[in-house]
Amino acid sequence: MSRTVIRNGLVVTATDEVLADVLVDGEQVAALATPESGQADTWADGAERVIDATDRYVIPGGVDAHTHMELPFGGTFASDTFETGTRAAAWGGTTTIIDFAVQTVGQSIREGLDAWFAKAEGNCAIDYGFHMIVGDVTDQSLKEMDMLVGEGITSFKLFMAYPGVFYSDDGQILRAMQAAAGNGGLIMMHAENGIAIDVLIAQALARGQTDPKYHGVVRHALLEAEATHRAIQLARVAGAPVYIVHLSALEALAEVTAARDSGFNAFAETCPQYLYLSTDDLGRPGFEGAKYVCSTPLRPAEHQAELWKGLRTNDLSVVSTDHCPFCFKEQKELGLGDFSKIPNGLPGVETRMDLLHQAVVDGHIGRNRWIEIACTTPAKMFGLYPRKGTITPGGDADIVVYDPNAGQVLSADTHHMNVDYSCYEGRSITGRVATVLSRGKVVVDGGEYLGRKGDGRYLTRGTCQYLR
Ligand SMILES: [Zn+2]
Repeated sequence: MSRTVIRNGLVVTATDEVLADVLVDGEQVAALATPESGQADTWADGAERVIDATDRYVIPGGVDAHTHMELPFGGTFASDTFETGTRAAAWGGTTTIIDFAVQTVGQSIREGLDAWFAKAEGNCAIDYGFHMIVGDVTDQSLKEMDMLVGEGITSFKLFMAYPGVFYSDDGQILRAMQAAAGNGGLIMMHAENGIAIDVLIAQALARGQTDPKYHGVVRHALLEAEATHRAIQLARVAGAPVYIVHLSALEALAEVTAARDSGFNAFAETCPQYLYLSTDDLGRPGFEGAKYVCSTPLRPAEHQAELWKGLRTNDLSVVSTDHCPFCFKEQKELGLGDFSKIPNGLPGVETRMDLLHQAVVDGHIGRNRWIEIACTTPAKMFGLYPRKGTITPGGDADIVVYDPNAGQVLSADTHHMNVDYSCYEGRSITGRVATVLSRGKVVVDGGEYLGRKGDGRYLTRGTCQYLR
């Protein structure tokens, strides 16, 4: 087995910051020791590789619990494949993704899941797991959910939005939550009132309001808050925990906060786009706002302070990306003249770790919290801890050596995601990935990609480890 020693770095986890040397043996972390102990000299003897991490952080690889590689949406497909998207993730210091397999109406869950296994297998640069989108809650689907939990797919996404596509009604949602209460699964909810939103879309288009900015107007913050409230109450009735995905509105956050204050297991994630972008971007001149069309939508900038606060108080527990890129040319352009036809989604899997480090630089969160929301909590939430999400003996050696002082400018010219624009074009940030290990193998180092497709393995997950 090959051994790697990472010396003199500041090892940062969700709980600790300590100057330490790390021994990687094969695919796992074997030991940590203080530099003064001299232990690393012994380890370095016969090691295949010694990495000098002086003045750098040594952090767990990122866990992005919300990606959509190759997702079919609105008559096209998300432009990153499992190959290109996971490679871009590695470049950005993320070593685990949990993507969404899709069951469509009339299809069994098994058929949907098998199709996603086939897309991912042999193509991923980093380890990957799946949540299951349950698009058709039927007696059969409910039985299949029990089977999936037994097989390590322990989380299920439902939609209160997109009538006629992924939408579930309240009765279907309640039944799925009851099933989760029995089998230990975690229901993830896209919380927007899609029935009401569709009325507002039709009214806006009838008034000739076709520009991208109207996407943000019709997907009203109160319709996110209403659906969030309803999802939480249905979960309480069913006796199941609930996880709200891509929360963007402060009114929706207030619903999660109230539920958590009453002791209920409600959790929520937000995404970097809601922390750094706003309706100002959606309203950019011409059709450029289409680059910023995602659902839930970007909100006015004043929501951002509440989201940062929610991250500090743990009413927001996770930051994932909802990575779902569509090229501006030809894909976003499907919605020229009709904002409702713009494919919903943004690229982000490569920039999450850096943007959250920038939040440390800016003083929004501390270093431990950076690691907690980006690595540790997502691993616990979705049953991967401590194999993923921290640096501990016996855990997978998914490790990022991070240079906190290096500057970089985000741009489509230099990113590795398969999409023709960056949401953060020209933005200067501080900090960047130096070296990435995925299960002990160096996959990124010194500006070079050293891995290959198929390095990443499928992850069988346990049930949620984050319940109170
Ligand atoms: Zn999503």
